[in-house]
Amino acid sequence: MASRDPAADLRRIAFLLERANEATYRVRAFRSAAKTVAALPAAELAERTAEGTLAKLPGVGDVTARCITESLAGEEPVYLRRLETTEGTDLQGAAAALRQALRGDCHAHSDWSDGGSPIEEMALAAVEVGHEYLVLTDHSPRLTVARGLTADRLRKQLDYVARLNDALPDGFRILTGIEVDILADGSLDQEDELLARLDVVVGSVHSNLRDESPKMTRRMLAAIANPHLDILGHMTGRKVSAAGEGDRAHRGGRTRPPSTFDLDKVLAACVEHGKAVEINSRPDRLDPPKRMLTVAVEAGCLFSIDTDAHAPGQLDWQRYGCERAALCGVPADRVVNTWSAERLLEWTAGHSAAE
Ligand SMILES: [Zn+2]
Ligand SMILES: [Zn+2]
Repeated sequence: MASRDPAADLRRIAFLLERANEATYRVRAFRSAAKTVAALPAAELAERTAEGTLAKLPGVGDVTARCITESLAGEEPVYLRRLETTEGTDLQGAAAALRQALRGDCHAHSDWSDGGSPIEEMALAAVEVGHEYLVLTDHSPRLTVARGLTADRLRKQLDYVARLNDALPDGFRILTGIEVDILADGSLDQEDELLARLDVVVGSVHSNLRDESPKMTRRMLAAIANPHLDILGHMTGRKVSAAGEGDRAHRGGRTRPPSTFDLDKVLAACVEHGKAVEINSRPDRLDPPKRMLTVAVEAGCLFSIDTDAHAPGQLDWQRYGCERAALCGVPADRVVNTWSAERLLEWTAGHSAAE
């Protein structure tokens, strides 16, 4: 039997574990083993397999060694086969059509802030799930707990992404961005000059989530009116289950009720300024709740169905956002990430120039 690519099998296992929201340390074992194997000459790998000394390699343990052995023997590793067979059911009808229409993801983190993986691994996973673009949105300075990027580090990231884009496959690119904190007074936590340079700006509330409704409303309205903001991230801040792996901006392991604000005013402002309401797909968030999503559809809002991924496999979570969007009657042409990168960039540049 022809042997399989053991590094590819190990990476696929990591992807499926991340998608299932498994603990980071479990996933890391497979990613580091994949790295070691990929860097090893084929002859040495074969020799170690024959001798049974794979587990002596850095980053390789008994479980990953077994996977490598099976893979080299041309068998699908048992570990991988089990994961593949416990995969979720396929999306149906409108949700499937919506997922099919998505061409990118506007909210994802790398290990530059609180994500678990390098930018290039996130990008390759985005290619794998069929995207044409991925907006990189690491956190802003005030969110120190999530290693928010200072202006200086963000400038470095922009240079890095420019170089990386040259090396990525044709037909795919990383768009620059940020998940910028909406501060207590509604201002955005990054320099104006930098916000203007970024392709896409997601703005989210991460602090003082229990502000009283009038205060929270003023805060959100100020942020939505800010010409730099393009997408309002996880608008209620609710947590429906314990914090997901890697999402350090929101750890604490408890659920959290939605914050209170004047929904009609906030949605009307989004429509007036042409800003999108994020449909956050994280299983621990599912934000906004369906009743609010339905109101937003009626109000005429634009949407962005995002994963808020903190690991490569989480980029496949858009299915959860699509299911809820379909249930609430979100039309595909009002979802900004069904648009081409060019149209998306025209849109984001449009409202910054207009005001
Ligand atoms: Zn956030
Ligand atoms: Zn985020």
